[in-house]
Amino acid sequence: MTIKRAYYLDAYTDQFAATVAAVFPRPEHQAIDLTLDQSFFYPTSGGQPHDLGSIEDWPVVDVFVDEATQTVVHRLEAVTKQPIVNQKVGAKINWKRRFDHMQQHTGQHILSQAFVEVAEVDTIGFHLGAESCTIDLNKFQLNKAVISAAESLANRIVFENRPVSIRFVSLDEMAKLPLRKRPKMLDDQIRLIEIEGFDLNACGGTHVHHTGEVGIIKVNKIEKRKEKLRVEFRCGWRALAHYQTIENAAIRLSSDFTTSIEAVPAAAQKLQKENKQLQKQLRVAQKSLISSRAAALAKSFIRPTSPELDFEVLVHCVDRTTSTSDLRQLANELTKPPDRITLLAHPDGAVVFKKSANLPGHLGELLQETLKNGVEGSGGGGPDFAQANLTQASKEQIDLFLAGAKTKVISSIKQGLEI
Ligand SMILES: [Zn+2]
Repeated sequence: MTIKRAYYLDAYTDQFAATVAAVFPRPEHQAIDLTLDQSFFYPTSGGQPHDLGSIEDWPVVDVFVDEATQTVVHRLEAVTKQPIVNQKVGAKINWKRRFDHMQQHTGQHILSQAFVEVAEVDTIGFHLGAESCTIDLNKFQLNKAVISAAESLANRIVFENRPVSIRFVSLDEMAKLPLRKRPKMLDDQIRLIEIEGFDLNACGGTHVHHTGEVGIIKVNKIEKRKEKLRVEFRCGWRALAHYQTIENAAIRLSSDFTTSIEAVPAAAQKLQKENKQLQKQLRVAQKSLISSRAAALAKSFIRPTSPELDFEVLVHCVDRTTSTSDLRQLANELTKPPDRITLLAHPDGAVVFKKSANLPGHLGELLQETLKNGVEGSGGGGPDFAQANLTQASKEQIDLFLAGAKTKVISSIKQGLEI
């Protein structure tokens, strides 16, 4: 049976009656595939996604072309009462989705031709996504003025409300026509979409009757992709929804900056500049704070051994005014002079061990050994620096951990120096 693709001539019918031509159970997809004697459902092809809707009460979740038979297949969600061949059925297309696709697709034809007219650039790819659409242009660089000119021309074509017509021609007839792009798949009959006095292109998609129905065509983003340029755009209702989102964000920013929308970029730039300066000042202040903290803490170094083994140890748990990231800097500062070891901890469980480079021993290994003694946590490090995170450790547990580590470190350094 030849299955009529009724959407080829009529994109506006969203409810129709048909007869079931074939039924294919697809248990692997928990679905049933169905073909009809005629269908207005658009199958995924040519960059345009499929329609959604229902046949009787069965939701249509996918529509595609079976390559072998070139028929339009409707995939239905698993149903209890299966359709049968020759059954008369009523079908309904999700019109909101269909019309959105029509707006985007006709909008794409207009925008692609606008780029041809303004910059002699061809469209080599089209994608109609759920959020936005893209076309790929065969040029990797276009200046803002050219893009803006193409956008303006595209919108002029919309506002002129030109008729959009569909016709079929033979291959011979097609050869004589000035098509924007030659189709890859050549049937006996080629379907052409013509925007009066502006664009002629071979296409199988669903289109509006007049360019005015496309609504505004707005380019939203330009992205370089190797040898091509990707142009993101939105048409019609999508463009309006996107405008509303952007407007809401702009109003919010203008209220936050207590300035007009137009003045927001300058205010944001000023804030960014101030922020950079403050960050710089903060880094200087932090450095000086760490230095003075280190100087105060240095008084608490103790000499645990005989004078001939000349090294100092500092064990300290900082308070919460010190950030965990400051621990490392503090340890670095404290061990700049030779013969020093610091074992620092933060009440949140962060632990940092650091020693002067002239001392023997391996702090990473010592830390691992101490971790084995019943404290939950993980960490490691090299000879002079090691760090750990004692997960959910109490203050008492942290103190015990530091005390255990101190004993190990002192005896290890002692041994190392005595050799
Ligand atoms: Zn098309």
